[in-house]
Amino acid sequence: MGSEFRNEPLTDFAREENRAAMRSALDHVRAEFGRTYPIVIDNRPQPVRKGLPRENPSRTSEPLGNVAMADVEQANQAVASCLRAFDGWRDTSVEERAGLLRRTAEQFRKRRFELSAWIVYECGKPWREADADVAEAIDFCEYYAREMLKLDAPQHRDVLGEDNRYFYEPRGVAVVIAPWNFPLAILTGMTAAALVAGNTVVIKPAEQSGIIGAKLMECLQVAGLPPGVANFLPGDGEEIGPTLVQHPDVALIAFTGSLKVALAINEQASKTPGGQNFVKKVIAEMGGKNAVIVDTDADLDEAVKGVADSAFGYGGQKCSAGSRAIVLDGIYDQFLARLVEATKSLAVKPADDPGCSLGPVIDAEARSRILKYIERGKSEARLAHQTDLGALMDQGHYIPPTIFADVPENATIAQEEIFGPVLSVIRAKDLDDALRIANGTKYALTGGCYSRSPSHLEQVKRRFRVGNLYINRKCTGALVDRQPFGGFKLSGIGSKAGGPDYLLQFVLPRTITENQMRRGFAPETGTGE
Ligand code: NAD
Repeated sequence: MGSEFRNEPLTDFAREENRAAMRSALDHVRAEFGRTYPIVIDNRPQPVRKGLPRENPSRTSEPLGNVAMADVEQANQAVASCLRAFDGWRDTSVEERAGLLRRTAEQFRKRRFELSAWIVYECGKPWREADADVAEAIDFCEYYAREMLKLDAPQHRDVLGEDNRYFYEPRGVAVVIAPWNFPLAILTGMTAAALVAGNTVVIKPAEQSGIIGAKLMECLQVAGLPPGVANFLPGDGEEIGPTLVQHPDVALIAFTGSLKVALAINEQASKTPGGQNFVKKVIAEMGGKNAVIVDTDADLDEAVKGVADSAFGYGGQKCSAGSRAIVLDGIYDQFLARLVEATKSLAVKPADDPGCSLGPVIDAEARSRILKYIERGKSEARLAHQTDLGALMDQGHYIPPTIFADVPENATIAQEEIFGPVLSVIRAKDLDDALRIANGTKYALTGGCYSRSPSHLEQVKRRFRVGNLYINRKCTGALVDRQPFGGFKLSGIGSKAGGPDYLLQFVLPRTITENQMRRGFAPETGTGE
């Protein structure tokens, strides 16, 4: 405490020792392929009733291991264990709870290259982005530990003869349901916030990143997790999700993922079954259809690079990805030509190759969904570029970086979240038109603008209504504390991960008023009471 929060530095892979460390971690992790990762309840591994084989999306012939898949009975056991552990964890001091997060961050630091290697293999993230995922997980632990210590100082409003204390306590059993695209960072962020606030947690990772979820659980356990305070429950969201969400002992659901699932969870959680003596709290972070506006006076070198990075970083599989470039008429043709050239230079490779700019998409289902959008795009707009991947297409779940030009603003590919390396370039008459198009979707997550005109930038800041707006830089890569992250409209509930309001969602405020005047005196008489 005291000093300012500092983000965990990223690994500099320009240095040979870091490249060597990463190569050795990739080898070391490869030697661990084939293991089985069980459900963990009360800090004890559970017998594996059903397993999900995991494969490397970069090389689908390469099996990674097996992750247990919970059934409904095990989901109920995990909640029951959390409920048993709740009173003790609630009454554990915030210092101790923060200590658990800090020791978990220490584990992440110690195992940094190994965890990055798992992210490379299980989720197809290139080295640098996998490393940033681990750094963000460290940041979430450190940041929420500090923020909770701040919240723990009760507010006193004492007057003569009366003490008033306003303070926070946890809500109860929390269920954390996470996506696969920031497999360590997002799962850790939601879990760390819930834990440090004093809730006990069922950790439900995405099916596509169950091994990395198991690594988080290992780190928590080594850091001193008391039994039942967090239980690791990998499983099929559709199968165990409704049980967890509707469970009468679950007080809070922290979800990050697709709009469709978020709305279903919200609806289920709004029901209050008999035996549930509270209203459930839902925290939901959803998708985006983010736009980057390119003004006529934009620095084209910067804009081309920024748009390509925003659209194709991690194959467009970020909620913050810039999947629409809205380009003003005066610069449109020039920008498009240069963007196509820049995209041609992106190296599509297996994610464990250090030269990889973008790897595969996460799985076969995602690949076929994205390919359908590309077919749709061909009927809605003009295909301006599609990289030829040749034989690579058969090795893993690859999708060529694809740019559609002259996309009508209301086309399906300009309105729906594709979650792949597909960019829609849309022509705008002027800045007013660009802003109208940019705001014209159901989402409001991130956005960007490249311009050198101060008056235009003023307008953009005022009128481009998104949760995270980036000026003259890419629209992805938010850092904890520096750029608290989250959207509104159908992108999220509006509070921001890695920001000062986030933990407030995980606690309940209480006020205790004590009349000090009566202490030590005989009971009053003759008042008529
Ligand atoms: P998803 O919605 O398919 O799955 C997310 C989680 O929900 C998984 O753990 C899954 O098992 C679970 N789930 C699925 N059906 C469920 C049900 N019926 N009940 C309860 N849980 C259920 O999303 P995904 O494919 O893992 O992730 C991609 C999506 O996440 C994209 O839409 C992306 O924009 C979004 N996302 C948003 C943010 C943000 O901060 N706003 C960050 C990352 C990802």
